Amino acid sequence: MSRIRARFWDPSGKRYGIPTWPWRMAPAHLLTRRQLTAAGLRPGGQGVQAQILWASRRHGAPGVRAAYLYDVRFALPKRTATPAQLDALAKANAARRTCPECRRDAGYVLPRHLGTCLDCAETPTDLKEVA
Ligand SMILES: [Zn+2]
Repeated sequence: MSRIRARFWDPSGKRYGIPTWPWRMAPAHLLTRRQLTAAGLRPGGQGVQAQILWASRRHGAPGVRAAYLYDVRFALPKRTATPAQLDALAKANAARRTCPECRRDAGYVLPRHLGTCLDCAETPTDLKEVA
């Protein structure tokens, strides 16, 4: 095993606090959140169980990088939204599109720096305020 690999080889977690493996060396039952999601799972309340550490040589962001791992045995199926949750989401999204000035659904999420739809932002009253 190379020195680089040995540096991040710590399955007991003695050195890093949690079990740690080098890139591509972690046991198969430990998955990243992304991998869980791809399998239709979520961490399900468990904390980070282990990590992968590797030395990144990426330009602009060198240094040691970490990927956190979750135990697939504690993972739970992904939640699907209930009709009530979908309804609440739709309402929240509609509110983000509704202009407080002209009370119309603008058809897009209102820019936060304007707080109104683009039409209202271009009205003469607004121009007066700017001047
Ligand atoms: Zn408006």
